[in-house]
Amino acid sequence: MTSFNDFGLVEPISRALRDEKYETPTPIQAQTLPLALSGRDVIGIAQTGTGKTAAFALPILHHIVRKRLRPERKSCRVLVLSPTRELSGQISDSFMTYGRYIRPLAVTLAIGGVPINRQIRAMAHGVEVLVATPGRLLDLVSTHAVRLDNVEVLVLDEADRMLDMGFIHDIRKVVAMVPKERQTLFFSATMPHEITKLADAMLRDPAKVSVTPQATTAERVNQRVILTEKSAKNALLAELLKSEKSDRVLVFTRTKHGADKVVRVLEKSGLKAEAIHSNKSQNNRERTLKAFRDGSLRTLVATDIAARGIDVDGVSHVINFDLPNIPESYVHRIGRTARAGAEGVAISFCDHEEAAYLRDIEKLIRMSLPAENRRTGSPQEAHVHHAAPHQHKKHGNGRNHRNGKRHRGHSEARNGGGRRPQHAPAKGASTAPRGEPTAMQNVTFMREPRRQAGHRAPRCFPAQWDPKLGIHVT
Ligand code: AMP
Repeated sequence: MTSFNDFGLVEPISRALRDEKYETPTPIQAQTLPLALSGRDVIGIAQTGTGKTAAFALPILHHIVRKRLRPERKSCRVLVLSPTRELSGQISDSFMTYGRYIRPLAVTLAIGGVPINRQIRAMAHGVEVLVATPGRLLDLVSTHAVRLDNVEVLVLDEADRMLDMGFIHDIRKVVAMVPKERQTLFFSATMPHEITKLADAMLRDPAKVSVTPQATTAERVNQRVILTEKSAKNALLAELLKSEKSDRVLVFTRTKHGADKVVRVLEKSGLKAEAIHSNKSQNNRERTLKAFRDGSLRTLVATDIAARGIDVDGVSHVINFDLPNIPESYVHRIGRTARAGAEGVAISFCDHEEAAYLRDIEKLIRMSLPAENRRTGSPQEAHVHHAAPHQHKKHGNGRNHRNGKRHRGHSEARNGGGRRPQHAPAKGASTAPRGEPTAMQNVTFMREPRRQAGHRAPRCFPAQWDPKLGIHVT
């Protein structure tokens, strides 16, 4: 399908697409639309930025127009579950954009962090589309403000992220409440085992579509690594922000605390930046995002979870202040740039302790990244530091040594050294809002007192000096 006209979408939708100047369907849209329009369940493996929202929103809106029904009180005909408030807001906006000529069309957002009363009122007469985060949805259901027994289409967006954020039980509860007779559209950027299991339980004879091989890095992104000391990262970031020609820069840190710290340090260097993460109020997050979108804020510092799903075109640079300990997150991060045909730059800082993360990333994307060595330590010193992560490889990179496969569903690496699986939060472990890892959970497990790596390290790990990486590779 090379044109939206080929799908036979109803006129109000075609008109809205013309307004939006959408001419050619993206690959996920071209594959998903005919299947979803025919009523099939679909599993779509696609990242944010591929046009997946329209891939499910357009056939749903088409269905709503073709089968006109007055929604029942407190009910929704379509339920979209998404992991974050930001993503939910963007999905709801997309439904309104593509459905702007469909009348009546009620689209409601049920997300945490904002007063519930308005959501209760909005649901009183029933709506066509309810976009919700799982926690708030269950709150609304438990207070009888929302019923789920009239759902005709269920969408699960960013399923893998939902799992990471510990929403799996909530999702199962929701699925048990919606009618068995329904259409389910299931989107995930990756398909680890747990997600496949969830999809098996939720979908009926699904068609599977995939737009990018799971581990393919956006090809238009110009990627490079700067090997640096941890202590030099702040100065390096300030230097890059001053020297690189950039429009919008998204800086990633591993923790919320780290994000705030980067903002403070940049401000001291006279560079304006804002952080976005779940400790910030909803209003604050929205204001920051708006400023980033409209160009009045050039540098946004974010954690993986907060940034996931942020729909901002024109991000010219992604800077990984910390390398992610989940290699797939690297792919998501750099996918924030080079959208809509633009070229993008991704620069990753890699300190000694992150050498193993870099190796995992390069393995996943099947390419080695050009690296510039700004480390001050001697090669020998670099090796000793490098040895510690290697010693901890079993815990550190989530790989099973026997079959070399990644334990994504049980990923110790995600939450800091195998304390608990992320989808089974320890009771009372965190007072942070649901969904964001706390600084504690992200304590780097690879940090080992140097003396423990000790003088035996070179003997245990005979290593080759890699001049490109500036480290010994064992
Ligand atoms: P999504 O992956 O759904 O977050 O979409 C990413 C961006 O692509 C959004 O800004 C959409 O407005 C835009 N988009 C989606 N589909 C198309 C299309 N067929 N043509 C042009 N832009 C699109």
